[in-house]
Formats: sequence, structure tokens, C-alpha cells
Amino acid sequence: MATVDWESVIGLEIHVQLATRSKIFSGAEAAFGAPPNTRACAVDLGMPGVLPVLNREAVRMALTFGLAIDAEIARTCRFDRKSYFYPDLPKGYQISQFDQPIVGAGVVEMEVDGATRRIGIRRAHLEEDAGKSLHEDYADMTGIDLNRAGTPLLEVVSEPDLRTPAEAAAFFREMHAVVRYLGICDGNLNEGSMRCDANVSVRPRGQARFGERTEIKNLNSFRFLRQAIAHEIDRQIGVLESGDSVVRETRLYDPRDDETRPMRGKELSDDYRYFPDPDLLPVRVTSELLGEARARVPELPRAKRRRYREDLGLSDSDTGFLTGDPDVAAYFEATLATGCGAKPAANWIMDRVAASLNRSGLDVSACPVAPEQLGRLIARIEEGVISGKIAGMVFDVLWEEGGEVDAIIEARDLRRVSDAGELARIVRRVVADHPEQVEQFRAGKEKVLGFFVGRVMRETEGKADPGRVNALLRDALAP
Ligand code: ADP
Ligand code: MG
Repeated sequence: MATVDWESVIGLEIHVQLATRSKIFSGAEAAFGAPPNTRACAVDLGMPGVLPVLNREAVRMALTFGLAIDAEIARTCRFDRKSYFYPDLPKGYQISQFDQPIVGAGVVEMEVDGATRRIGIRRAHLEEDAGKSLHEDYADMTGIDLNRAGTPLLEVVSEPDLRTPAEAAAFFREMHAVVRYLGICDGNLNEGSMRCDANVSVRPRGQARFGERTEIKNLNSFRFLRQAIAHEIDRQIGVLESGDSVVRETRLYDPRDDETRPMRGKELSDDYRYFPDPDLLPVRVTSELLGEARARVPELPRAKRRRYREDLGLSDSDTGFLTGDPDVAAYFEATLATGCGAKPAANWIMDRVAASLNRSGLDVSACPVAPEQLGRLIARIEEGVISGKIAGMVFDVLWEEGGEVDAIIEARDLRRVSDAGELARIVRRVVADHPEQVEQFRAGKEKVLGFFVGRVMRETEGKADPGRVNALLRDALAP
């Protein structure tokens, strides 16, 4: 029997927590990690007599996103009530947008395995977040924390344009970079600032019609997203190959067992009984508001990648590392501004800086070595003032004590021994001090040269150019 060549189809719904100071329909402060229910607000809980008022900053952020992905922007949009009952939503409905989202169709460009892929965005709409159910600390009970209720979310819905788990993860990563570049989300996955639902189906390759899909809820890491989708694809193929059909349902991924489990069936979307929220006015997007949003769109990751590659000659992997996080890109560009070479700057940042930050658990924005100092350090190597090895020492001093590159080099007398006469004198002395080794070398024992190089380096405290030391030694040792 011929086996079927299955193709997977994936569409993501990404919830982006907008980094506004206050909640979307109340003035309550949005804050992560506050004691449970201390940031809950009567407006967000829909208490009798309250009136929601839309947060203008959330609208501006949604527009910034829309412009960044070249999307159609609605001139007017409105808010709807999406009814469902769940303990973390005590008012019984969520304020969301249904048929008039603020952002329409757009496109996100990303790179996977060196190739550029364009992924369609179907829409992005504003909504309020619900509270949180806490299962861990309570035996046989569920705790409810309503601090998060009313936090502004932008839900971004992709077209089913993704074809592999790796592509889906790359898309999530690209979205993560984009919202951080735009400054509309802190991107903190651990705190749930970006959560993702993955819609997954499979079909025989070549078939035009999509297969039935399932939806995996609440994935908040790139790795879990990839694993969950890969697992769900295998499960669906297994179901279909055994002659059954895939059931449309919502599933949860359990990273501990690496499997997805059914959570609830999802047959009827009109269960939600959407209707326009009578307490909120429709939103008119003025050109003034759009102008404000446009002014906030910076150079985006894809443009930066192209520039780093084409203007700076960096490789795809260097470029990917440096542009993935806007703070890293800013650090790199500030380093370059001192005039050092792009490739050495990239190497230092990916290598020494990244390792040191990692070790001390610091973000690049808190790096103790200022980019101007790193740039100057690299320039001094390029000018031949210090060796790469000495530069490593200077870097450690900068990291531990701060200070200024040139002052450290002077104060510690770290300049390369560049005075030809002095180096020649040191070489002659080392040779004169070791007659026995000179005999061995002249008798053909090449290895002894290494011994002499080591001695000279020790005398110069590592500050001599190894090539020159070699040449001088060979001269001095010649019979
Ligand atoms: P719903 O209204 O149930 O949320 P949508 O049509 O809005 O459904 O689609 C939700 C998400 O599911 C979108 O990201 C879309 O790309 C994706 N999707 C739709 N159909 C499929 C499919 N057959 N396989 C995989 N993903 C799909
Ligand atoms: Mg949906």
C-alpha cells in the first residue's frame, strides 16, 4: 500500500499584551506580579453602574502594529461583547472586536533556513484580557486572580500559511521581534506577555482543500510551540491513517508528557453571541491618530537584516542574532558608531559580551561595558595597539570596574611591544640565557622554537606580536 505524503497546515492566533500603563477600559494600573486581586478594578469586572472608557494609547499601539505589517487599517471600528462564562471572567462577557477589527489584512516577512517567507495576517483586534485561574497552590480548589482582567490585548490572527512546526516557531519569533521593536509589548514570554494558540491540520500533499483542524491553546515558548505542533501533526496523521477522522476541538499541550489532550469541543462559534457593546462608542481612526502611530514605526527587523547583510557584509546567522532583539541591535549599532569594523564587533557581541551577560543573568540594556568602550577596544586591536589576548583582559577590567579603554591600557602598561629594538633585545637575551635549548634547536629539534616563543611572550607579558617574535627568533637561532 502506498503511504500518503502528508502536509501540515498551521495558523497562529497570537495574544500580545500591550505595554500601556493602564488597562484598556479603566484607569487601573496594569502590573504583573502584584498580590492577587489588588489590581482588580470595578470597571473591568463590569460591576453595576460602571462605564468603560477606551484607552487611546492601546488604539495607537494597535495602529502602529497595523502600519508595521502594511495592513489595511479600519477608518472606523467598534467593540463587541463576546459572551462566555468562565470563573476568570465573572462578568460573563469579554469586550473584544468581532466583525470590525481595527487592523485588517497585512503581511509579515520572515526568514526560515535562509529563504524569505511571507505570511498573511488576517486581522488584528483589540480586546481585554481575562483574569487568571490558579491551580497550583490549592488542593481541590481553584484560586482566581483578577489583576489581569482588563489588560489590553492585541490578538493577531495569521492566515493558514505556515507549513511546518519550524516555520510556525520562526513566525512566532518574528512577531516577538516586531512587537518589541515597535515598543508595544515587553515580549516577556514567562510572564505571559505573548501567548499563542496554534491551529493545526494535515492534508495529503497536493490536495487543495484543508483538513479538519484542532486548536492548541496557550503556548508561551518557541520550543513548546514547535514541540506541541509537531506532536499534534503526528497524532492527526495517526488518526487519519487508522481510518478515523480528526475532531474539531481545543487541546492543551503538556510539555511534561509531550502530548496534547482534549480540553473542550468547539463546534459552534456563535455560542459567543457577539453583539455591539452598548457602553462603548464606535472608534473613528483620524488621520491625526494615524500620524502619531506612523511616527512610532522604527526600522523593523526585516529591514535591519537586509541592511546588515548588504551594507555591512554580515552572514545570515550573525544578522539573525543581532536583529532578534532590538536592544542587541541598538548595542551593536552604538558599538559601530565608534568606527570599528562590523565583523569584529559582531563577533565580540555574540561571543564575549553574550557569554558574560548570560553568566551574570543580565540583559544587554544593563551591560556594564558601554558599547562606546567596546567599539574603542576593538579599534585598538585593529590599530595594532593591543593584542586580542590583552583586549580580553581589558574587557574584564571594563566589566568589573568600568572605566575607559585607553586609560586602562596606559595605566596597566598594556601596549603591544612595538618598539623593534626592544623586542630584538628581549629575543637576544632569551636566546643567550638558554644555550642548551639553542643546541637542541640547531640539531634539528624544531619543537624547541615553541619554548623560546613562550619565554619571549612571558618577558613581554603577552604584548608582543607572535609573528614578529617567531621571525626574530629564527634569525637569532640560525647557526
Ligand atoms: P475561528 O473563527 O474559529 O477562530 P478562523 O477562521 O478565524 O477560526 O481561524 C482561526 C485560525 O485558524 C487562523 O489563524 C487560521 O489561519 C487558522 N486556520 C483556519 N483553518 C485552518 C486549517 N484547516 N488548518 C490550520 N489552521 C487553520
Ligand atoms: Mg479564533
